[in-house]
Amino acid sequence: MKSFLLRGGRVIDPANDRDGDADVLVIDGVIEAVDDPGQLRAPDGADTIDANGCWVMPGLIDPHVHLRDPGFPQKETIATGLRAAAAGGFTAVAAMANTSPVNDTPDITRYMIERAREVHATRLIPVSAVTKGLRGAELVDFAAMVEAGARLFSDDGIPIDDQVILARALDELSRLNFAVSLHEEDRHLSEEGAANAGAVSKRLGVQGYPTSAETVRIRRDLALAIGTEAPVHIAHLSCAESVELVRHARRNGAHVTCEVTPHHFWLEEHAVLEWGPNAKMNPPLRCEQDLETLHAAMADGTIDVIATDHAPHDPDSKNLEHLVGCFPMSAGAARLPDDAASAFMRAANGIIGLETSLGLAMGLVHKKIISARRLVELMSANPARLLRIEAGTLSHEIAADITVIDPELAWTVEPAKFLSKSRNTPFAGMQLRGKTVLTIVGGEIVYDARSYGRGANRV
Ligand SMILES: [Zn+2]
Repeated sequence: MKSFLLRGGRVIDPANDRDGDADVLVIDGVIEAVDDPGQLRAPDGADTIDANGCWVMPGLIDPHVHLRDPGFPQKETIATGLRAAAAGGFTAVAAMANTSPVNDTPDITRYMIERAREVHATRLIPVSAVTKGLRGAELVDFAAMVEAGARLFSDDGIPIDDQVILARALDELSRLNFAVSLHEEDRHLSEEGAANAGAVSKRLGVQGYPTSAETVRIRRDLALAIGTEAPVHIAHLSCAESVELVRHARRNGAHVTCEVTPHHFWLEEHAVLEWGPNAKMNPPLRCEQDLETLHAAMADGTIDVIATDHAPHDPDSKNLEHLVGCFPMSAGAARLPDDAASAFMRAANGIIGLETSLGLAMGLVHKKIISARRLVELMSANPARLLRIEAGTLSHEIAADITVIDPELAWTVEPAKFLSKSRNTPFAGMQLRGKTVLTIVGGEIVYDARSYGRGANRV
């Protein structure tokens, strides 16, 4: 099915300043037209899809996921990751370079693209490493990586400690006009901290990870961006001061964009006491005031992008068997026993996010923290711009990447039903409202909620 008429939905397409009831006509996998209800006719033999009660949006795009392929098939593969992405409403995801081997050569980039092509699901946009082996010393051949298909550059997972190396990377990439996504962490300050420095890290008896470990590095890197054309993107910012630093740099002419993850805008640090290693990530969850600032910054446009930082891990990597019975920590409990605290410190960072991101972001829409239009900017239009791909809009002759959601569909997060290979999430059991109904890539349906049973009810 490459040609169809999608009828009766609310079409939200900020790039064309459209938000209202409309029909979408797709011919041979590209957008032919979007027009007022009843104005478009499906060609002979083409299907009509009823989108009544649904929102029709340019396909969601996630510029920050870890698909663990090549290298870690026990956590995720390109096939399982892209199917999970499709189920979450994503039509494209950018896969980070910290695979094994690292994506620092055109061969690995081409491997990722070829594997993705074999999977009938979401598009994969390869992210190239900035430095060879993510070792922070020697730049990769950026032009060769672009030629092979990379559309973003990042050593994510590891900060680029040497500012001279970073300055050279920014200079080269600004000439190629691709962005660098920066994992901002001063490892002298974070010291392998396992939770936000403060009450919760003390309660756990683990090393604290202060906000300063993030902010001193953002301050340094934005200083490099001010006065240059370098497109700098700050990955997963977590705290109020980081938001202020981005505003300041922008006022001073820096070409800076930034992203927030659903866990950082939804959970505060105490979630770690409940979920243990499944709420351990880098940067860690922060405080209530940080959440409020992140929400305001998502609404006012300071934060450009929602990115999941989808980080699948098997139970062993999360040290779950050494932490049996420790979480949730009861109100009266003192700190963790020493061996458990040490197991927690050693547990891998990160959580999965592809199948919960939209539902959590819709939570902000239902609470009127952000508008529906803003959600589409954060999850589609702006990520497309960051990745330099022709997407994030329903414009005439653009590939028909479309996400159809039911904004009122209530559902419960059940990790056992995820298409991802991993289950590490602190959102298990949570009630969400708003879910993907159809994910369409190049005019073909790659996820159809109707064929995945009905674990959800209309409210
Ligand atoms: Zn990171």
